[in-house]
Amino acid sequence: MEGKGLNRTASEIMNPRVITASRGTNANILARQLLTGQFSGLPVVEEDEEVVGVVSEFDLIQALLEGKELSLLKAEDIMNTPALCVTEESPLLHVLKLMIEHRIIRLPVVRNRKLVGMISRPNILSQMVDSSVPATHVLAVCYWCERVCDDIQSQLNQEVWCDLAEYLERHGVNSTEVNFSPKFCTTCAPVIKKLMEGSTSAQ
Ligand SMILES: [Zn+2]
Repeated sequence: MEGKGLNRTASEIMNPRVITASRGTNANILARQLLTGQFSGLPVVEEDEEVVGVVSEFDLIQALLEGKELSLLKAEDIMNTPALCVTEESPLLHVLKLMIEHRIIRLPVVRNRKLVGMISRPNILSQMVDSSVPATHVLAVCYWCERVCDDIQSQLNQEVWCDLAEYLERHGVNSTEVNFSPKFCTTCAPVIKKLMEGSTSAQ
């Protein structure tokens, strides 16, 4: 199976059903959309669907940590721009390299600069995992930061969260043996709680 999954192209595994934001979308609305857990980042597009930036939950958390009021911010105030994009023909290996190099977990897929889908690290990860092998580990993975809970190092009252690659290497676990169960990690949970409270009180 080696190489097979990564030789596929972005168009084969991207999510074509994408919710977008415009430059003027209020950050509170962005927060609510991201909190549904269905997407971890939203592309910001012009009226003709040209991608101008991406807003991730990290950008929202960053704004909150800087003491900013979400209801006073627009997508264009907090988005990452210019947006790094890939095309439908981009091989997954190229997409993965870009994600690692720029430390991002999702990328817009474009045709002539216009949005046709989104591709995320879990999309790619699932291509690398051989689903015919039964999973022996169920790992909690954080919705927001995508770290996994180290079930072997964690104590009863203290969860240890780390990158998946770190977990696999530390415990000699093969990625094909792992299944994921999403939840919020101990770092993100309090921030999300604060975000939700702020979001609700601004209504
Ligand atoms: Zn987290």
